[in-house]
Amino acid sequence: MDKKISKKDIGKLLSQWRQQFTVFVPSRESGIATMAEWDGKDTSPMDWYRNTIVPAKANFFPPAEPMFSFQKDKEGYHLELPVSDGHKQLIFGIRPCDARALAILDTTFKDAYEDPYYLSKRNNTLLIGLGCTNPYDSCFCTSLGISPGESKDVDLMLTDIGDHFLIAVITEAGEELIAKTSRLEEATKADETRASEVKETSYSKVTRRIDTENIDEKLLSGFDNQDFWEKVAAKCLSCGICTLLCPTCFCFDINDEMVKKQGTRFRCWDSCAFPIYTQMPMENPREEKWRRVRQRVCHKFEFQPMNFDIIGCVGCGRCIRLCPVNWDITRILDSLPAKV
Ligand code: SF4
Ligand code: SF4
Repeated sequence: MDKKISKKDIGKLLSQWRQQFTVFVPSRESGIATMAEWDGKDTSPMDWYRNTIVPAKANFFPPAEPMFSFQKDKEGYHLELPVSDGHKQLIFGIRPCDARALAILDTTFKDAYEDPYYLSKRNNTLLIGLGCTNPYDSCFCTSLGISPGESKDVDLMLTDIGDHFLIAVITEAGEELIAKTSRLEEATKADETRASEVKETSYSKVTRRIDTENIDEKLLSGFDNQDFWEKVAAKCLSCGICTLLCPTCFCFDINDEMVKKQGTRFRCWDSCAFPIYTQMPMENPREEKWRRVRQRVCHKFEFQPMNFDIIGCVGCGRCIRLCPVNWDITRILDSLPAKV
């Protein structure tokens, strides 16, 4: 049987978990909704929070991250790797789309090369999902096989059933956490029925759809249709917002910052929307904007299915909501031309 907790006790629940974990909750930082470390007091984000602007990928793959520091002397370079304190994290309130996005990122960061920076955080984190009850009209997660109210990509899944959250155990780690948590009540049959109704209602609120049937083949056949891609790319400003804030985008650049004889090598988010992203000494294969826009769409809907058998989009709708010129990926996918 599922558990439940009264909403007025959510601060007490987070306080218990804070004794074992660094707890992250939806918060506002400089006016931007993000998953930030809980201050031990404020639980008000639960009242306004639909989804964060910055996805939870930033907790595993930060916008800028030191990789190592170095010093140079007569003998050469000496490197110092960052030391993890091994402290476990808990992310509370992650939405199903963003939890699935982490599973998609895993396919890249756990591929032939295992990324120690991402994986050290990922393997040390519990995810507590919270179902959406008020999806944005830009959301289209249901077209990608995601339900806004349910997730198997988290350890515990919470559903808002009025005065309480119903808590469903998803993984063994979630079960262990529940066993060590006090103040939980047993959910009743009526609570579970209410939770099912809430999930059905939120599913029906996602009305934006895309047709993913054979989408990789459609993109492949239209790959060389320059007229089409020039038209769809016309209004894009190449600002990169749609990629930086996409929960499944993972491109990064590596730089050294050095002062005198010591410095830091760090990586930071990069974007295939930027004109210099593919700049090489002799040429830039994606100098024209239409090629970069094509790359973004094809990477998610053609190349990732080809390489990992998974579509690289979770339908979170951020790239639609946050684009300064309302560039809409769902319209582009709907208007793909017939075979060229
Ligand atoms: S957010 Fe909009 S304008 Fe900016 S790169 Fe993406 S599609 Fe282009
Ligand atoms: S492409 Fe857009 S809708 Fe899809 S996961 Fe990225 S930001 Fe979300």
